[in-house]
Amino acid sequence: MTPRPDPLAYDLDALRARLVPETGGAVDRSIPELARADPSLVALSIVTLDGATNASDGSDVQVSIQSAVKPFLFALALQDTGGDALDRVGIEPTGEAFDAIKLESGTGRPPNPMVNAGALLTASLVDGADAEARSARILSGLSAFAGRDLEADADVAENEHLLGDRNHALAHLMRAEDTLAVSADDAVAVYARACATLVDARDLALMGATLAAGGRNPVTGVEVVSRDVARDVISVMATCGVYDGSGRWMRQVGVPAKSGVSGVIVLSAPGRLGAAVISPPLDDQGTSVRGHIASEILSADLDLHSFRTGSV
Ligand code: GLU
Repeated sequence: MTPRPDPLAYDLDALRARLVPETGGAVDRSIPELARADPSLVALSIVTLDGATNASDGSDVQVSIQSAVKPFLFALALQDTGGDALDRVGIEPTGEAFDAIKLESGTGRPPNPMVNAGALLTASLVDGADAEARSARILSGLSAFAGRDLEADADVAENEHLLGDRNHALAHLMRAEDTLAVSADDAVAVYARACATLVDARDLALMGATLAAGGRNPVTGVEVVSRDVARDVISVMATCGVYDGSGRWMRQVGVPAKSGVSGVIVLSAPGRLGAAVISPPLDDQGTSVRGHIASEILSADLDLHSFRTGSV
């Protein structure tokens, strides 16, 4: 069998140079901080399961993590509830937008942890007696995934909280259905702070690598979540991570991933590596245009597709 290409020898700056001329898509305008994003930013990073990093120019530029936080909120909720979070949130794709005002029919649960309703709920399930304590637990958990102390952007958190009308609506709907135990405002505040966590491409790649390694951070050696939790999270990333573009993503890229409206994409190839792309202009489904192209190229060049069989 031909050996697989070495991710550490891969020329990420050459890939970056191929992506820069792609000018499709538009930056998100939901809050002023995202509207001011640099549309020319392109950053790529790969972290292998023995903790080695490959990174392009720009991979130290920080952006808010946005929805790429959702797999990690799900992971922390599963870890802190001993798996009970799985009874509180569905795991089926919705075929709808990330912020659709819709719960699972019959149960009133959020459809899955990768849409906003689900992330509002999983953020409410992590350990902590009040909103402050839950936010602190989330920040320390995200930091353990990233292998360094992360911080949240206070302005992003405040604006997400103030301007997130659909998130407030979803939280109230879950209160009405008796599926959210904390107050609607607490749930939105904690989720908004989580979305405001600042990461660079290397942080995100290491977060993806920690899941791909079964929950143990390959740089620090810390077991952040159990192997079962990592498996559950990657499974739901594979089916729901790119919202109603998840089917197309799985065929084209074949690597479980989660996108966010700041233009981030985190990829987690189980047993192989974690990777991240950051480039703010988005397609109609809220996924980074250059990020999608880069993920497809990386998957092909590094032979990452989950369902591509070798010759026999
Ligand atoms: N902060 C955004 C929201 O909840 C995240 C959306 C995303 O990245 O897809 O509306």
